[in-house]
Amino acid sequence: MTTPLLDKAAKLVSHLKAMRPEDRDRASEESIRQAEAEHEEFLAAFSIGHCYLCGNPLSSFSKKTPCLHWLLKPKGFKKNDLPAVAQRFGFFQAQTYLRWVANTEGFARHINDLPEEGTGGKLIELTVRYRSLEWSFSCAESDFLGHATSQHSKHPHYHFQMRIEQRPFINFSDFHVPFKEADIVGLEAKRVAPHLVKHAFPRGEGMAEVMNEASLDTLVSAGSTPDIESEALVHLSSMVMADEGSQIDGTELYNLFQEAKAKGVTVASLLHKLQNTSTRVVVSPGSGVVEQAPRSGRKKDL
Ligand SMILES: [Zn+2]
Ligand SMILES: [Zn+2]
Repeated sequence: MTTPLLDKAAKLVSHLKAMRPEDRDRASEESIRQAEAEHEEFLAAFSIGHCYLCGNPLSSFSKKTPCLHWLLKPKGFKKNDLPAVAQRFGFFQAQTYLRWVANTEGFARHINDLPEEGTGGKLIELTVRYRSLEWSFSCAESDFLGHATSQHSKHPHYHFQMRIEQRPFINFSDFHVPFKEADIVGLEAKRVAPHLVKHAFPRGEGMAEVMNEASLDTLVSAGSTPDIESEALVHLSSMVMADEGSQIDGTELYNLFQEAKAKGVTVASLLHKLQNTSTRVVVSPGSGVVEQAPRSGRKKDL
């Protein structure tokens, strides 16, 4: 990794540290607003089958103008065209685009960015699905630092996999996709100061966003049943235990289920009403959530 980029990242971090919290908040709100405005453009074009970046139909492919919409596999796009796309668009741009595409078909469930569902120990592990297409990004620390097994791999890079109808189209091992400078600065800043630097994807939220504690509280307490469980975004299982020396009142429990049904809310959200019990709600990603495509560590140079 080159020192000027590390310096840039260090400068960014000290700049953020020096900011007043309210100014930091304002800056991040502003960048969220910008992303949302860009998402509007994306959506307006996407809904009529066009790409907001190049203005061409999503089904078009011209070697002269590499574009992220190529990842939607227009006729003519071959795996060896990937480097041209990656040269033009950075890792965060590509990820944002695909996240927005995936979220056109339901919130978050087609984006698995849960660290605990990955193979572990990676800086980035993420699988995004849209219809028959599935894209995965993977970056271990050794990829980010660059591993000196070849000329290409010694620079900070990530690995990319694309499947079509579950069949391999691009394999993780096919390319060492170089990060762009802005990617490196962003990733390094987050590595150095994870409490200050968060990578958010407005309108491209994935399961990590859904499963964070604040969202879970909202889901459990306010979520209505059809919204959450039937669409299998998350799975709630509740455990009720009677306090020592007392018993769970069956009638009370039955009434609670009826009440939840009538109100269209989760049972979990009403459990606090039970007398002399303690309850625990376990939340896990639902069955409708895309699984992460593991990148195996078989080959050393992967
Ligand atoms: Zn395009
Ligand atoms: Zn690598």
